[in-house]
Amino acid sequence: MVQQYRCPAMLSHSTHSPTEVLVMNSGSSSLKFSLIDHSTEEVRVQGLAESLGTPDAVLHLSRVGREKEIYGIPNAGHSQAIATVIDQIDGSRIGAVGHRVVHGGEAFSGSIRINPAALAAIRHCVPLAPLHNPANLAGIEAAIERFPALPHVAVFDTAFHQTMPRHAFLYAIPHAFYEEHKVRRYGFHGTSHRFVSAEAARLLGKDPADLQLITAHLGNGCSACAVKGGLSVDTTMGLTPLEGLVMGTRSGDVDPNLHQFLAAALGKSLDEITAILNRESGLLGLSGLSNDMRQLAEAADQGHSRARLAIEVFCYRLAKGLLALAAGLDRIDAVVFTGGIGENSAAVREKTLSHLRILGPVLDAQLNAKHGRESGGSITGPDSRLLALVIPTNEELVIAREAARFLDHSINPPSR
Ligand code: AMP
Repeated sequence: MVQQYRCPAMLSHSTHSPTEVLVMNSGSSSLKFSLIDHSTEEVRVQGLAESLGTPDAVLHLSRVGREKEIYGIPNAGHSQAIATVIDQIDGSRIGAVGHRVVHGGEAFSGSIRINPAALAAIRHCVPLAPLHNPANLAGIEAAIERFPALPHVAVFDTAFHQTMPRHAFLYAIPHAFYEEHKVRRYGFHGTSHRFVSAEAARLLGKDPADLQLITAHLGNGCSACAVKGGLSVDTTMGLTPLEGLVMGTRSGDVDPNLHQFLAAALGKSLDEITAILNRESGLLGLSGLSNDMRQLAEAADQGHSRARLAIEVFCYRLAKGLLALAAGLDRIDAVVFTGGIGENSAAVREKTLSHLRILGPVLDAQLNAKHGRESGGSITGPDSRLLALVIPTNEELVIAREAARFLDHSINPPSR
């Protein structure tokens, strides 16, 4: 109900119909946002506030057809960053706010309009995602403070994977840990796997129900997912986003005895070892140079042997992860590459496919060089037994679509 808006800037525009969705993705010291027109799906404004809580806090803003803008917001937290964003945009058409929430545990298999019970459930999941969920909550609370009358919708990274069967999500540890403490594999990047698997179906002109895919989201965090008939049946990440593939700074799978070994050998605490596995491992740990694939590719070209090694391990472990996921499928209709690395690095795609030779891929070098962030499509040739696709992901769009589902009801609530 438009009269309920308490924000003065919005009251003055209350005759506009709400066509826009504000999408928010809050990290511990950052806030990414986009303002998306839900009917055209055009991004009107997008930006990033970073170094929040420090004197260097800064807001970068891009509006369609305008020069990039930068605002210093020293010591701003999430709340002040959101206030600055709202001051800089025309908020009068915002009808809903969509929030990325990393961990929804077993409580959420879909998106939900946030209410006190949902907030409590998200808070309940903090021990499962201690780095992410508190930041997500800070963003949600700050946005609700600013837009108290709008529907706020939580879109969970874990929700898409709630269709995994028990044999895929259980660890082989005493069952009481699952029953009493919900220790199980959850999986993450669900919005991305869901989006690119649906896009793959569209690209191939097939019903998602008839497709069996393996999607590989390769960004700073990396995970792969077996998608059968449009549903996640297995994925590489687990209880936390540390399990599975090699990532920018995360180790992915290691021997579960590693903590004990490092504690004894180096006298490190559990917390210190966990931090090493999350922040100093992966591509960064292996190369000793960088977690950024672009930088590693350049260094490898110039003969940096550890950069080369890091890329080699990354691609081999990725291929191994993709093959393991095939256990959840009857056949592989396509492997889909997405995320910053998946969309942009033809070399990583080529190397990974070379480790999948058992599936008979025949790479088309021209298509592999051509497809990327700007255009999705096949990168394998007509003789290939395995179809490999590149499909740009768009997690913000998924969140905007989910939030838009709550738009009409909140503004014109059904009379029943
Ligand atoms: P994301 O988290 O999806 O933004 O992806 C970040 C990762 O994508 C980083 O490792 C970047 O180095 C990598 N990336 C972005 N552009 C390129 C590129 N042109 N070539 C290789 N890697 C890239």
